[in-house]
Amino acid sequence: MHGLMQNFPLLVPSLLEHAEQVHGNVEIVSKRLEGDVHRYCFPDLARRARQLANALQRLGVGEGEVVGTIAWNGYRHMELYYAAPGMGAVYHTINPRLSAEQLAYVIAHAEDQVVFVEAMFLPMLEAIADQLVGLKAIVVLCDEDELPASSLPGVLAYESLLAAESDQYQWLELDENRAAGICYTSGTTGNPKGVVYSHRALVLQAMNTVIGLELNSRDVILPIVPMFHVNAWTIPFSAALLGTKLVLPGKDLDGASIHALMESEAVTFSAGVPTVWQMLFDHLEQTGERLTTLKKACIGGSAAARSMLETFRDRYGVEPLHAWGMTETTSMGSAPILTPAVISAGDEAVMDAKMSQGRAVFGARLRVVGEAGEPVPADGASSGHLQIQGWAVAQEYFKRSGRDEWTDDGWFDTGDIATLDAEGYLRLTDRAKDVIKSGGEWISSIDLENAALAHPDVAAAAVIGMRHPKWDERPLLIVVLRSGAVLDRDSVMATLSERVAKWWLPDDIQVVDALPIGATGKVQKNLLREQFADYQLPTASIQPAAEHG
Ligand code: ADP
Repeated sequence: MHGLMQNFPLLVPSLLEHAEQVHGNVEIVSKRLEGDVHRYCFPDLARRARQLANALQRLGVGEGEVVGTIAWNGYRHMELYYAAPGMGAVYHTINPRLSAEQLAYVIAHAEDQVVFVEAMFLPMLEAIADQLVGLKAIVVLCDEDELPASSLPGVLAYESLLAAESDQYQWLELDENRAAGICYTSGTTGNPKGVVYSHRALVLQAMNTVIGLELNSRDVILPIVPMFHVNAWTIPFSAALLGTKLVLPGKDLDGASIHALMESEAVTFSAGVPTVWQMLFDHLEQTGERLTTLKKACIGGSAAARSMLETFRDRYGVEPLHAWGMTETTSMGSAPILTPAVISAGDEAVMDAKMSQGRAVFGARLRVVGEAGEPVPADGASSGHLQIQGWAVAQEYFKRSGRDEWTDDGWFDTGDIATLDAEGYLRLTDRAKDVIKSGGEWISSIDLENAALAHPDVAAAAVIGMRHPKWDERPLLIVVLRSGAVLDRDSVMATLSERVAKWWLPDDIQVVDALPIGATGKVQKNLLREQFADYQLPTASIQPAAEHG
């Protein structure tokens, strides 16, 4: 027997239609690159998204085709989040920190038809102009009179494009499993891997985010986590669903700017990686200012330090929420929902639970397995490989044949090492994947090692991530030198500089006699990490030389 309910697919524009009809007075406030603050309400967003859908059609973007965005968190980026999926196309959020080579790769691989770009990122496209010949248009997110001069032909201004269009458009009735968004993850070595989000996964995760972060309609939400990264953890979509005021910070993510925006817009909830919170703390400490409206802060993307959670709770009266997720899980895979047992056990038990990465969100199953895939007991002590399955978990990468990350029985292997306990609390203890996460962005240790091996004095190289107070982790390069060679740091750094982005450069180089090699011939990074457990990066007490960007 079939259920006799009406059958409405879970589509991204349905969030916007809902917000337009039910949350008409709710504001979206954006700090613009132009320097001012832009405000409008959900019906304005909906109207302009419909104009944009017409514009995309006029530019020749068809159903199933992809449009790239290289943009900060702002209202125009939000319009793209709705317009592209709503007319059957797919938004492809591009990380502006990609190298020129990776940028050209993802644009070509996703077959972007049009790229929407913030004016300040236009030079990135100019640098790869010869590889953009397939694009139908490049659109700069600005007014006509702010359109920068460019060596690229036929660059359009976003506002002129919209102004020419009708605001009448009927969102398509699509299958909810159709693609709505793409985000590439560039963790390990090799080319970035594309994760393709369905409408259904985005809508369900927008709901999960509401539940997992205990958001409500009285909240004012500031996602600092970028919209080019994992759908800003689907927080912008949750705002439409709930009718919460949304505050979008643009490019200024330093402590002073974030604090000013939080105070002026009465922000109650915000989300970001530990690095942004550390920058906010530094600012507050220097100025003696307080957080007068913020009630909850979500920390994710890297492990939160206990001191960070305690600073939020004890010094600023803000509830810290520590969550875990990946590009491959659409947004959160585990959320910081506390059990009544933990709450009644007192403050320290609550803090212990908050230090975990939370518990599986509805629709996601977590398991921890040993080396041979055997289940590991959920006793909070036995660790193993964290695997996940669920309605918002990738089943394969875009246009890639290998399925190394998936088990034969359909679980995605996260590359994280973890424990689970009897109540479902997840604790990440290590990382099996060979990457370093600096300020929320990946550095491939394998690529760095290969670059180091290009130096004539380096016989063997291994890179490990070391704790860093500002960037969470920074790379330490450990080398074995050829016999008779003496380490010439500047020369090794020069070799690396020719091959990797500046912010990837290791914060230090250490020489060892030999690297620990395991039975399969691989460097045992866990042993190296133990060996260097007491080592402190020279940059750990001062600012690192390599700035992100
Ligand atoms: P995200 O933006 O959610 O970090 P990525 O795909 O870039 O997405 O990175 C996912 C990886 O980041 C995880 O597999 C894990 O290694 C790390 N990570 C994410 N959240 C946490 C967390 N709360 N604690 C520790 N590591 C985390």
